[in-house]
Amino acid sequence: MKLLAVSKQQHAESLRCAHAAGLVDFGENYLQEAEEKIAALADLPLIWHFIGPIQSNKTRGIAAHFDWVHSVDREKIARRLDEQRDPALGRLNVCVQINLSEESTKSGTALADCRSLCATVSTLPNLCLRGLMAIPAPLTDFDSQRQGFHQLAAEFTALAAVHPTMDTLSMGMSNDYEAAIAEGSTLVRIGTALFGARSRSQ
Ligand SMILES: *Cc1c(COP(=O)(O)O)cnc(C)c1O
Repeated sequence: MKLLAVSKQQHAESLRCAHAAGLVDFGENYLQEAEEKIAALADLPLIWHFIGPIQSNKTRGIAAHFDWVHSVDREKIARRLDEQRDPALGRLNVCVQINLSEESTKSGTALADCRSLCATVSTLPNLCLRGLMAIPAPLTDFDSQRQGFHQLAAEFTALAAVHPTMDTLSMGMSNDYEAAIAEGSTLVRIGTALFGARSRSQ
């Protein structure tokens, strides 16, 4: 189980404290804000994960500064990240984001399309297909939370049988991580429960 500290809208000094307390993996949603923190914390051996929606004009910066991307949801973005990744940096670790509830306002590929996207990512030389990510609709009831995660876990098991590099099931946030862990999450993305309310203005 990996704990990803979601540090969007937190100051670099808060990340420094979190690292002193033992955290190594940090998740960011906004490229420009992340680039500032990555530069400010370059003296620390941190692992950076991009977890926000990806516009095409952001792929170059993401490919240059991050170790992981959890929010790849279409082939065009995967191909751009692959083309723009400097091979000297090693492969960029990728999770395909699934939109479980198929809410049109959310990013993520439909469950029905994720197999072909995973197949494409697995062929790209500068990417390494590591797993699946989802942000289910916010629910407060534990059993309902489990249902969405269960669907994702079943898809993950099926895909990992085909793609042996898949070892990461990125699911669970501050309000639903217990249900995610009960369904086999290997990585929880926790922001407010670690850092408190987000304060930094954009
Ligand atoms: C902000 C965010 C989180 C963390 O949410 P919290 O509720 O603060 O734990 C996790 N994953 C993604 C993709 C996010 O954008």
